[in-house]
Amino acid sequence: MVFIKSLVKTIEANEFEIQNREIPVLNKGEVLIKVDYCGVCGSDLHAANHDPGYEFVPKPIVLGHEISGTITKVKSDNDENLLNKRVVITPGIVCGQCEACKNGDINICENISATGLHFDGGMSEFIKAKREQVIPIPDELSLDIAALTEPLSVSIHAVCQLGEQIRGKDVLVQGCGIIGMCTAIVAKNFGANVTLSGLKRDLNTRLKKAQIFDLNIHINDENSYNQMFDYVFECSGSSPAFENSIGQIKKGGAAVLVALYKNQMILSPNILVRREIDILGSYASNIKDFEHALSLLLKQQKAFRQLIKLYPLEDGANAFLEANNQEVLKPVLQI
Ligand SMILES: [Zn+2]
Ligand SMILES: [Zn+2]
Repeated sequence: MVFIKSLVKTIEANEFEIQNREIPVLNKGEVLIKVDYCGVCGSDLHAANHDPGYEFVPKPIVLGHEISGTITKVKSDNDENLLNKRVVITPGIVCGQCEACKNGDINICENISATGLHFDGGMSEFIKAKREQVIPIPDELSLDIAALTEPLSVSIHAVCQLGEQIRGKDVLVQGCGIIGMCTAIVAKNFGANVTLSGLKRDLNTRLKKAQIFDLNIHINDENSYNQMFDYVFECSGSSPAFENSIGQIKKGGAAVLVALYKNQMILSPNILVRREIDILGSYASNIKDFEHALSLLLKQQKAFRQLIKLYPLEDGANAFLEANNQEVLKPVLQI
């Protein structure tokens, strides 16, 4: 029997242990991936913290879905072309049968289950995945940066809710976590005038990275806005922040909700009606967004590398701690 090293989140909240686990056994249509890098996602933090809404996550579990690695084994002969391919994966295992799947909207599949949340994920030397989950990465793209593909694809999905109409327009991105940062970068790539907002305490940590991508910044707890925006992308997860942002949207504008919210919100429907403001939701991403993300990462590899901080797998607990303290924008485990 072959054993592999895995970072296991135990039955306790925020407790991690390195364990030797059996290497996954492949079923039909599955491939084995040697994981090189695995990002720590916001959803991993919530799951490790046993937050409400994450009761479905098994305990113990190997978390992680933002992986990059190399396929070392396939089950079916007709998958042999995938051998030795450098890949990332889409986190969801989807049914392929429901209306959403048939439309290519795999992110809102009726029967989705997520790698590293519903079952063991990528914070491990090896992971198995379905061939449909696998997306090859360009030869020139480094595997460490490829670990950003999934979070960047989520931002691309969000910006594509509005698409080309944001070109030349004033866009506010609220929240300077990795999704907010990536959303601001993508919006800028679409030709928008982008302002990224955060709190004073973010100035020397997460918000500092905004200058790499030439983004305007706004400190929410110090100043009020001196302008209105055509479009707002809400990535902070703060209900009051979203409620307030509605007053900053120009007539005929729109807000896209990208974060998830612990608390309910109070919105005045009359403002939305009289000012013709649209509110759109955006959840996760699909294959098209992944491919778009890979091409953007390839174009700006050097800049994107400055968004990640590497931790050895053995130091995984520390990566979670620093992420929870919002000291680091995107922790990535190096395996
Ligand atoms: Zn993620
Ligand atoms: Zn489906």
